[in-house]
Amino acid sequence: MEAGNSLAPFKGEGLLQFPVAHGTACLCSSKCCLLRAARHGLLFTSEGKVSIKQARYASDEGPLDPKCKCRVCTRYSRAYLRHLYASNEVLAQVLNTVHNLTYYLDEMRAVRHSIGLGKRASFLSGDRP
Ligand SMILES: [Zn+2]
Repeated sequence: MEAGNSLAPFKGEGLLQFPVAHGTACLCSSKCCLLRAARHGLLFTSEGKVSIKQARYASDEGPLDPKCKCRVCTRYSRAYLRHLYASNEVLAQVLNTVHNLTYYLDEMRAVRHSIGLGKRASFLSGDRP
């Protein structure tokens, strides 16, 4: 299967309509920034970007994003995620990717909901439904 057709089975099922697979387009560039960011320890949260490689997270036992319901945020601390990243464990890339994709899926879900309610302007100003 070619990269361009890899998401064809998902079209029309209410999932994101932009491909994030390797070698295809993304929201913000021709390379997939979500996956690349995760590989490099950059995580997107409701509180802003988190660079998990920073030493200040070494003893942070809190969740990566307290508002995120993904399997990573509900199970692992920032300290553990930093430890995995600093140890160059492949699991760090997997967990970071799971969180980043969940975060953006939730964001896109909120955007679609706001558009459906006709509240696009309020979403853009930061007021979430
Ligand atoms: Zn999460």
